[in-house]
Amino acid sequence: MQNPTTYYRELILVRIGEIALKGLNRGRFEKQLLKNLEYRLRHEGSFKISRADSRIWIEAGDDQQTLDTDAALTAVQDVFGYVSASPVRKFLLDLNLLDSNVLKLADEKFADGQKHSFKIEVKRVNKDFPLKTYDLAVRLGELILDHFPDQAFVDVHEPEVTFYLEVREDFYLYTEIIPGRKGLPVGMGGRGMLMLSGGIDSPVAGYMMASRGMRLSAVYFHTFPYTSEEAKQKVVDLAKILTRYSGDLDLHIVDFTSTQLALNEACPEDMMTIVMRRMMIRIAQAIAKEEKIPALISGESMGQVASQTLEALACTDRVAEMPIFRPLIGMDKDSTIALARNIGSFKTSILPYEDCCTVFVAKHPKTHPRLSDAERAEKHLDILGLTLDSVQKTARIRLRLADNIL
Ligand code: ATP
Ligand code: MG
Repeated sequence: MQNPTTYYRELILVRIGEIALKGLNRGRFEKQLLKNLEYRLRHEGSFKISRADSRIWIEAGDDQQTLDTDAALTAVQDVFGYVSASPVRKFLLDLNLLDSNVLKLADEKFADGQKHSFKIEVKRVNKDFPLKTYDLAVRLGELILDHFPDQAFVDVHEPEVTFYLEVREDFYLYTEIIPGRKGLPVGMGGRGMLMLSGGIDSPVAGYMMASRGMRLSAVYFHTFPYTSEEAKQKVVDLAKILTRYSGDLDLHIVDFTSTQLALNEACPEDMMTIVMRRMMIRIAQAIAKEEKIPALISGESMGQVASQTLEALACTDRVAEMPIFRPLIGMDKDSTIALARNIGSFKTSILPYEDCCTVFVAKHPKTHPRLSDAERAEKHLDILGLTLDSVQKTARIRLRLADNIL
């Protein structure tokens, strides 16, 4: 017989959704999720992670006795690919232990002295256990009512607190189910080159593609001295915030000044924005190709500004030889801002340092450009030369998750 005191464990249960797995390779999904959780938790201390019955269990590492539940829960909340997580208490299949653990948990839940409704939900997987599901629920319900007559009453429809008990080879007891970010584990959806400006939209676009399992790299067009060192630092900070969700990423900083000045010289003012966007795509995809990255990601959304009309987007797309993902295309600004707040990028995005689009913006840009307009505007530009020059003058910064946390 194991010692009940040392056998007692606090764990975190991570549930993988069935729907997410439809049509996907389950083994690969679970392996990638496990790897990402491990990587994320490595920065928080020592944890042991294992897989059983399509669920993932996190417990304290060998050198630790008790699980730092809060730290682990906070960290796993950044990881895509699971449906919900619960802090769980696991102990031997013994009714005295069950009673004492339920009372201890009830004591914690009702600590504020207020009146709370509750219910008991039992899942009896182990059919050899002598008490049936209903008997267990009645036993625990009565136990709680006896010990907390002034604080607890039963409401099976809309309880404030639900005590979940799973009867397996051990008892598993918990009250909380914390929703995960869902999506797919990063690493399952190929790689994408995010065009990251200092604005609100592009970090959110990167986050959304990461939520579909895409590993990210990023590219920023820096027009020094027209855009400041602070503007660049802001983009570095945004990229660091993204690593919480996407894992490590490389940020490519393009020296865009000579290209921007050449555009100023050679392009009609009303076509400047669109030609600049076409140059950005050409350069971004040249870097992406070097890195063997097969897609671009941008924060554009339909109709938001002059360069984001259907015609302007179509003109931009014509220079692309790879897909440009625009996950915000059908979103309104309010939802984007809400998501930016949720992922923690909003405060950095609204710092007042301008990006090049604002410095070189035309007063009256053509909102419905034709491809022929764009091609004519580019006639006197050395497109290949400027592209190569910008690629050569690109610096790469490797951002690690640890930079963000420590
Ligand atoms: P954001 O809020 O992301 O800056 P925006 O609404 O300001 O977007 P634009 O300035 O038209 O829109 O830019 C559209 C998209 O082009 C951006 O979301 C981003 O993906 C990309 N982009 C714009 N400027 C830069 C830049 N300096 N470096 C890298 N990408 C850029
Ligand atoms: Mg912008």
